[in-house]
Amino acid sequence: MATGGTAFISHVECSKHDMGAYHPECPARLSAIEDSLIAARIADLLVRYEAPLAGVDHLLRVHPRPYIEAVEATAPAHGIVHLDPDTAMCADTWAAALRAAGAGVLAADLVVSGRHPNAFCSVRPPGHHATRTRSMGFCIFNNVAIAAMHALEAHGLERIAIIDFDVHHGNGTEEIFSDDARVLMVSTFQHPFYPYSGTDNPAANMVNVPLAAGTGSDGFRAAVERIWMPALEGFRPEMVFFSAGFDAHIEDDMAMLRLVDSDYSWVTAKVKNVVDHTGRGRVVSMLEGGYSLPALGRSVVQHLKVLAGL
Ligand SMILES: [Zn+2]
Repeated sequence: MATGGTAFISHVECSKHDMGAYHPECPARLSAIEDSLIAARIADLLVRYEAPLAGVDHLLRVHPRPYIEAVEATAPAHGIVHLDPDTAMCADTWAAALRAAGAGVLAADLVVSGRHPNAFCSVRPPGHHATRTRSMGFCIFNNVAIAAMHALEAHGLERIAIIDFDVHHGNGTEEIFSDDARVLMVSTFQHPFYPYSGTDNPAANMVNVPLAAGTGSDGFRAAVERIWMPALEGFRPEMVFFSAGFDAHIEDDMAMLRLVDSDYSWVTAKVKNVVDHTGRGRVVSMLEGGYSLPALGRSVVQHLKVLAGL
């Protein structure tokens, strides 16, 4: 039975994952979001859940067992060990990674069952760069792919759309779902830019829109209107998953797109309107990037206000 309200899923262990001083993917990102919810007076209007640990069976839908075991074996007892040049593990990272993936699984359960119309997962490490067999770009497990696979395989959904507006191309998610007819992925990203993918003959179910450095609201919104929307409306998704990265914001030094706070409410509303008609409004949103702490907090508030109808 629907209880309504937007579910907000997080866990204190996600803030213990620490890749070292000065790493931009830092624990303060999650507290910046919490502070912004309070400042915007919406913290008490969300229904909070603690993220569970993902089970190995959930991870195995996306990642092969040797990769999962290699990540677990890399986790240090003390200090920091690198999985790749951008991504590191501390003693608390393994638990954080399982909570981040588990949040998406719980979110899918809550939304498909009708307990909540939609859910936001305020978690880290992020996931959209993680391929089946490789960590990269601050990502260890592909959280959004694990959540989408749970909706497809545990709940039997047949048409899922993944919406990725992070400034970086979600290469891992693309690799995992290329030519999977159950999934349509639409994305915008700065190009050419890390990870330098997304433009070389993407599969038919990948709707990739590269944007030049300096692109702002007008260019972003035109891409969504002209390229994302016809694809989404034609696909008629039963459920939508956001890879919600907020690093295309003009205040974010990680990249050179120039989105503003209101672009995040605008794009959320555009996508929500499609799935309101085709999929009972079912949305799961998972945090990806976003490294300017004030812009991240404000942008998440914009995104959540639309999801929660506030
Ligand atoms: Zn990013």
